[in-house]
Amino acid sequence: MSDDVATTAGGPPWSTLSHLECPRCGDRLDASVHQGLCPRDGSPLLARYDLGAVVVTPDDVARRAPDLWRYHEVLPVQSPAGVVTLGEGMTPLLDLPRLAEDLDVGRLLVKDEGLLPTGSFKARGAAVGVSRAAELGVRGLAMPTNGNAGAAWAAYAARAGIPLLVAMPVGAPTITRAECVAAGAQLHLVDGLISDAGKLVAAAVADDPERWTDVATLKEPYRIEGKKTMGFEIAEQLGWRMPDVIAYPTGGGVGLIGIWKALHELLELGWISGPMPRLVAVQSTGCAPIVRAFEAGADVSEPWVGASTVAFGITVPKALGDFLVLQAVRETGGTALAVDDAELLEELRVVGAREGLFLCPEGAAVVSAVRRLRGSGWIGADEEVVVLNTGAGIIYPDAVSVDVGGEVPVVAKDGRLDVRTP
Ligand SMILES: *Cc1c(COP(=O)(O)O)cnc(C)c1O
Ligand SMILES: [Zn+2]
Repeated sequence: MSDDVATTAGGPPWSTLSHLECPRCGDRLDASVHQGLCPRDGSPLLARYDLGAVVVTPDDVARRAPDLWRYHEVLPVQSPAGVVTLGEGMTPLLDLPRLAEDLDVGRLLVKDEGLLPTGSFKARGAAVGVSRAAELGVRGLAMPTNGNAGAAWAAYAARAGIPLLVAMPVGAPTITRAECVAAGAQLHLVDGLISDAGKLVAAAVADDPERWTDVATLKEPYRIEGKKTMGFEIAEQLGWRMPDVIAYPTGGGVGLIGIWKALHELLELGWISGPMPRLVAVQSTGCAPIVRAFEAGADVSEPWVGASTVAFGITVPKALGDFLVLQAVRETGGTALAVDDAELLEELRVVGAREGLFLCPEGAAVVSAVRRLRGSGWIGADEEVVVLNTGAGIIYPDAVSVDVGGEVPVVAKDGRLDVRTP
């Protein structure tokens, strides 16, 4: 990054962040101080950039280090000194030819986010969110989580030297508890869902607002800026163009909104052209508020009662950014659909056996959804489809092992292996 430091003195700005904007009422807010939700209507705020001031070209970007900070002009952190990093970004965009044949789609690619620090794409949001919070002088961070975000924010908060308060459902993947504790976060387990944890965190923050800042999903504007880099990377890895379809496992929907935002920014920069990919929001039948709203033609979702699925990362009964997810899906001619646990766990095995990838349940749900959409003809036989695998299968031992490996017999040490002929 030393080259960039040199060119920053008197040269183009390291970040072109200009202001924050409310997507609901259109108000502009000052980005140089910490902001939560829109004071007028409670909507999430979005970061806006002076894209006309971006002088770098795609070729310049290609020569930079392979991490998400290569897009620093369109990220909110103001200088290289503000970057809190664990080496996140530029995950593989892998061709899945055998699975594509099985699904009968023209080309199928997976963006494998399981290789990121802490094992999920939450590292992107945490890297940018924590860096910007530290830069703005925030004293302590507090958040509810379904596990992966807590693990990621704990790691980056530790690296930034900022205290983190985490509340997660007692049913969240146990490894994420260990990650929070190992990184020195203050962890609270909640006998309830992420929505319940969110209320408890909000109350704790209200009790001591000087000490804690609520950084729950979309309650601050910078987590999404980290997640949008998935969109930048997909475009760059395809040679600065877009696929026909991008399918994403949707909980709070930040990743999907982020990819949509990133592609719009690239269009405005003139780095890509052509129609947007159709964005597909995939949920579980055990928690599908966005799908229900999409099918009903509604602009917002209703809270899902009794949410439960092995795809824990997408167990979000009511998302703050639901209206943006629905807008992104509709504007791009996309769709929303839900798959059930048995179906996604079966798919997880198919993908493992055909391509050697141990997807997380959320990623497997997306492949199941693509299989269905191809079956119904919504996806054409010659189309190019990108699926997001948002985490590593290995961080879900308890959710997956019973269903995937539970029937494997144990043999006595003086016994005989019952070998099957392949
Ligand atoms: C958080 C999470 C999701 C959902 O992400 P959103 O951007 O909030 O929709 C999907 N998969 C995994 C593995 C997650 O941890
Ligand atoms: Zn507003």
